[in-house]
Amino acid sequence: MIPHMARLHPAGKPDAASEDALHELQQAVKRYELIFQATNDVLYDLDLVNASVEWNEALYTQYGYGRDELNGTLEWWTSHVHPDDAFLLENKVSELFESGTHSWHCDYRFRRADGTYCYVRDRGLLQRDTAGRPARIIGSLLDITAQKQLDLAKDEFISLVSHQLRTPLTIIRVYGEMLTGGMSGALSIEQAQWVRNMTNSSSRLIDVVGAILNVSRLDLGRIRITSSPRDMRVLVQGCIKEVLPLAEEKQVLVGFSPPRRFPKVGLDETIFTQIVHNLLTNAIRYTRPQQGRIDVKLETRRDGYVLSVHDNGIGIPPDAEEHIFERFYRAKNAVGMEAQGSGLGLYLIKVMCDAFGGKVWFETGKGTVFYVLIPKRGMIPTGQ
Ligand code: ADP
Repeated sequence: MIPHMARLHPAGKPDAASEDALHELQQAVKRYELIFQATNDVLYDLDLVNASVEWNEALYTQYGYGRDELNGTLEWWTSHVHPDDAFLLENKVSELFESGTHSWHCDYRFRRADGTYCYVRDRGLLQRDTAGRPARIIGSLLDITAQKQLDLAKDEFISLVSHQLRTPLTIIRVYGEMLTGGMSGALSIEQAQWVRNMTNSSSRLIDVVGAILNVSRLDLGRIRITSSPRDMRVLVQGCIKEVLPLAEEKQVLVGFSPPRRFPKVGLDETIFTQIVHNLLTNAIRYTRPQQGRIDVKLETRRDGYVLSVHDNGIGIPPDAEEHIFERFYRAKNAVGMEAQGSGLGLYLIKVMCDAFGGKVWFETGKGTVFYVLIPKRGMIPTGQ
């Protein structure tokens, strides 16, 4: 069972030191065997060189498999992963192999013996051989089906509530716009201003409800990130066009000189445009009227593609820097300048970047530059 034991028994009588060593080794093996048996979690020892797996008892008791149904191959394992999660799993594994890290985790659906699926949280540690090649993963599968079901119920509840809020809010806005558009007769200057205030407030509320919905979905890991080749220059230009009315209202200039050559990058268009949109609207909002200048850039770097949005606005105070990506956080100078804001925009960007394997950071002083890195291989798609 333990091949190296033999080496501790050279021909002849073992001396006291080697007897002690043998005893210690036997204890260690015993401990390892007990841990392997005692836990309720499924434990595995995956030999990547031979593509073989050793499971503990919990695999049979928890998922209902008989010993004769398993052949101890990696192929058996992967063929029991839900087909919709296979791509996610593959991506996470190649990410682990390519990175310098050792620990790994991934949530996916795993088939029980009765054909139903449960959610498992797979956590493991990678061992490499002396040449640095991945050799072995030891880890555990924790059944998180109950937690996932709870998350799903919470998500459905939030979707329902936000839908119920958004519908009447949109109706208020539409009627307000009809009134200011003179569709039921001319309004006095004061009436028009009041109705505009109402419609602006309902627009903001619609945005906040949308942001809360997005945050809760992201928190639950339920935003699906897809990836297909896109020209970032075109998408950035589209976003700038969308925010121009806001910039013109504040007389803020927005400059963007797209690079002449830029490769198509694997992106989720909705996620990317949401990030650019949030950064641009922040840059406009936190820049003083009539003096504002915003520069948007796209660059290729060693580790990926970087979008930057540079403004000459109010900057981020030193005491706020470490909190800026926290949810609902707003710096004092921002609250003083722009009363409206949810403190969710940057949090959303951060969670999205983490989800697709990217990065967001900033530099501040006189004005602020926000940077977003999209990895060289594009956004890494995620499953549910
Ligand atoms: P919101 O803008 O709705 O408050 P965000 O999450 O987008 O929420 O931003 C969080 C905070 O980060 C802002 O309240 C502000 O303090 C700061 N901030 C974001 N962008 C900028 C910027 N371009 N210049 C200065 N401060 C910024």
